[in-house]
Amino acid sequence: MREGLEEPSIGAARRLAADADRVIVKAGTNSLTDADSNLDDEKLDKLVDDIEDLLKRDKEVILVSSGSIGAGTGRIEQSSGTVEESQALSTVGQSLLMHRYTESFDRYDRKVAQLLLTQHDLENPERFTNLRNTIETLLDWGVVPIINENDAVATEEIRIGDNDMLSAATTMGVDADLLVTLTDVGGVYTGNPKDDDDAERIEAVGTNYDEVQEIISETTTDGFGGIQTKVEGARDVSEHGIPAYIAKSTEPDVLEKIATAKPVGTIFVPINGVSDD
Ligand code: GLU
Repeated sequence: MREGLEEPSIGAARRLAADADRVIVKAGTNSLTDADSNLDDEKLDKLVDDIEDLLKRDKEVILVSSGSIGAGTGRIEQSSGTVEESQALSTVGQSLLMHRYTESFDRYDRKVAQLLLTQHDLENPERFTNLRNTIETLLDWGVVPIINENDAVATEEIRIGDNDMLSAATTMGVDADLLVTLTDVGGVYTGNPKDDDDAERIEAVGTNYDEVQEIISETTTDGFGGIQTKVEGARDVSEHGIPAYIAKSTEPDVLEKIATAKPVGTIFVPINGVSDD
């Protein structure tokens, strides 16, 4: 495992993350669907189990969940070739997704709420204030807000683009203390771990950011929703003094490990929020 930073600042960042009161958890489509693009009940239940680990510690959790287009694709076996098809599929998948989240959180007697957003809602101060107020009220009631982009109406001009940016904007906008991006790779690596056995996990990103960016641009070809946007989202957040993790959704007790400051995934050390011990 590579360490690009001094150990003390990593430890301090992990403890800051463990103490977070309000956490944004972002789950990608691969963390929720199977190879045939059907919603995967086991994966979804595991995510909810992990979130419950935070809720039972009296933390507030806001979930940013992708998967609507993926789940819609599996459900009605239509391709998502055109923008219109993807938009339509998202409407099929989104209701299915919420149905499953409702069932899964019911196991813990927790209630959920759906919030579908566009770029306008993030940019317009009045709309954003309304959004914040709604989220605050839901959190006061102990309801778990579940956010996704409103893909059905999000044409090019008003598209946020991907949920990595949406979750970073939400983290800063609702004064969360931690962003956790759950994905199908275990963090940021020195190569593409899917096809490079020598790729090593980078334990922490902070002052080594430029070096990490260089590695990513050399080793990844994925664009939309790939590691690049996850890293940008996590970096944005850490530049605002908030710690962020990129971690593997299948890692056992992944959120519990974060809540107990155990080493997991890649942590983005807050640039102005943590000093060395
Ligand atoms: N909003 C899209 C969906 O739910 C996903 C966007 C993303 O994964 O970044 O399918």
